[in-house]
Amino acid sequence: MGKKEFVVFGLGRFGKSVALTLADSGCEVLVVDDNEEKIHDIAEYVTYAVKADVTDAETLSTLGLRNFDGAIIAIGENLEASVLVTILVKELGIPYVLAKVQTDTQAKVLKKVGADMVVFPEKETGIRIANKLVHGNFFDAIELSTTFSMMELDALPEWYGKTLSELDLRAKYDINVIGVKNRGKFNFNPTAEEIIDRDDILVVIGRNETLSQLQNH
Ligand code: ADP
Repeated sequence: MGKKEFVVFGLGRFGKSVALTLADSGCEVLVVDDNEEKIHDIAEYVTYAVKADVTDAETLSTLGLRNFDGAIIAIGENLEASVLVTILVKELGIPYVLAKVQTDTQAKVLKKVGADMVVFPEKETGIRIANKLVHGNFFDAIELSTTFSMMELDALPEWYGKTLSELDLRAKYDINVIGVKNRGKFNFNPTAEEIIDRDDILVVIGRNETLSQLQNH
């Protein structure tokens, strides 16, 4: 399988961090921005950096975007430009188009013209941080469904020195332990004889309410 290819339109704080992270993860990344300095600054870190106005359909048509896996539209407040480029990349058949928006109206418009996903980075980060302040690290969990999550859980003091079999967390809390971490070492798929030590971190899957209760124990 070849490397995944993404195009990022707009190199504000959001677009730039998405582009650099994708490149860091080994993806091919093409970036487009009409600001010369931003293009110059990022050029050595991405596959291809193009100075262009994203509404310039002619230039965009020369970029060979047809086979890209995804497009990220991060041109900020310019709704008209975001709409145009969303329509253009969808017409080219790019399967996944993600757009950054600031308001519900922008979200509605961009979805209507074909964006597969819209994100509100400031709003979403604000919610995540507030949840973290209230619930500790609970919201660092990976949500598996609306009911279940996978998360890291500090071993409770009453668990120290006991085996997983003795603790019987599956029966008691309906949670599954899929790994145990201790000082950087990760024991994947522990056996029933695994003894839980002080400072162990359990990687578990369970119901959100249960996990939240155990986290705040
Ligand atoms: P953030 O809030 O993530 O920092 P900004 O709205 O500040 O994002 O940044 C938007 C980026 O999009 C800027 O780098 C700007 O140069 C670029 N941009 C805006 N309009 C266009 C356009 N029509 N063509 C190309 N780039 C654009």
